[in-house]
Amino acid sequence: MNRQGNRNRNRQGKNRNGQGAGRLTGTRTRGRRAAGLVLAGLALLAAACGKPGSPPVKGPKPEELPVYTVDKAFQLPDSPTWRAAKARGHLVVGAKEDQPYMGEKDPATGVYSGYDIEIARMMSASLGFDPKTIRFRTIASANRETALQNGQIDYYVGTYTINDLRKKQVGFAGPYFIAGQSLLVRTDETDINGPQDLAGKRVCSAAGSTPLQRIQREYPKAIAVAYDTYSVCVDNLLSLQVDAVTTDDTILMGFAAKAPDELKIAGKPFSKEPYGIGVPRGDNALRFALDDAITAHEKNGDWKKAYDATLGLSGVPAPPPPAVDRYPAS
Ligand code: GLU
Repeated sequence: MNRQGNRNRNRQGKNRNGQGAGRLTGTRTRGRRAAGLVLAGLALLAAACGKPGSPPVKGPKPEELPVYTVDKAFQLPDSPTWRAAKARGHLVVGAKEDQPYMGEKDPATGVYSGYDIEIARMMSASLGFDPKTIRFRTIASANRETALQNGQIDYYVGTYTINDLRKKQVGFAGPYFIAGQSLLVRTDETDINGPQDLAGKRVCSAAGSTPLQRIQREYPKAIAVAYDTYSVCVDNLLSLQVDAVTTDDTILMGFAAKAPDELKIAGKPFSKEPYGIGVPRGDNALRFALDDAITAHEKNGDWKKAYDATLGLSGVPAPPPPAVDRYPAS
């Protein structure tokens, strides 16, 4: 998260700030007063994200990441997605680029890292493609279904909750992890200890996400603010534009671990978010192959090693992996 990263995030936020836009304009005075704090907060977060000369930051170390055995003999002729990737010579995988420990892109090198990225790499190895050849594409929460429907990506790994509504548009292999919706606040916050405390509070989340929908549906007294990405929400939290950020604990843990003096998790998770690998709907052969691959990597120890080398660094030990839900062909 250097200056380039901030610029990207702000640009994304401005493009589609949805219902947040109108509400945010009402806070200009507070925003101006907070200007000093904004800079201090952003500088601290930037420092925590590893600017040269800053204290060492705990983060995934490339040399500690597992190496996945590529199944060179693998064939999946029944999958149109796999056939197209084979003809192309590599996979194109959708991911997030601003979620610490889960899916992060180094703006200097363009290299993606994190737990979801490791899941994407394991899957690639099982499908017969060297993970080094994956081309990652950053896709925001609101654009995942379209990206899969348009063939922009072969599969998607990025804190993607499996639910029935989304299953009408895409297929899901997995789950490979169960997260839970939670709240991130500034460390000096004492009033917010759970979603029941959000009445009249400004709560930021990503457009098109299940946590945003849950807040709007179940806590209508909260003032929901939506941006494209959670990193823009975190910038807004540090600059006192919002009172809390809500999304999965996995994502919030990463932000809190990177700026522990500024940010903390409030209360306990209040939902279940089973993470799936999104595939084009109807490509059942690909979905079942990924289900098999998830199970195989859980059994051979790769799943745990990948967790420990990425998300595990934010302080929470690996839970037992959830059972894969191999639902019938659709
Ligand atoms: N898991 C939730 C979702 O899929 C929130 C995280 C995200 O937006 O990626 O909507």
